Amino acid sequence: MNCKEAMKCVRPYLDRTLEPRQEEEFLEHIRGCRECYEELELTFTLEHSGQQEEDLSIADMRGALEDDMERREDGVKMFYRLMTGRYALATLAFWSVVIALAVQFRIWITL
Ligand SMILES: [Zn+2]
Repeated sequence: MNCKEAMKCVRPYLDRTLEPRQEEEFLEHIRGCRECYEELELTFTLEHSGQQEEDLSIADMRGALEDDMERREDGVKMFYRLMTGRYALATLAFWSVVIALAVQFRIWITL
């Protein structure tokens, strides 16, 4: 993902409408790009400063964004782990059926 794409993802990221793969690429880019990180931080800060009852300091805001990013990174990892698990299960189920059929055929043939 380049900076132009990342900038476009800031809004959907905060709205939580990015696909897991996009979110992963976005977070990867943000981690390595100071400019885009600052853009995200600014948008995040503006959005949250209106909602909080007591004013959060910039440091608190940074901490809140950091927590949010870490949670999302864990979420993306969890998503891939689940997908891998499902794929492994489907593969296992497929081969179980194939082996069961093969065994069944041998029984039919030898009878
Ligand atoms: Zn960038």
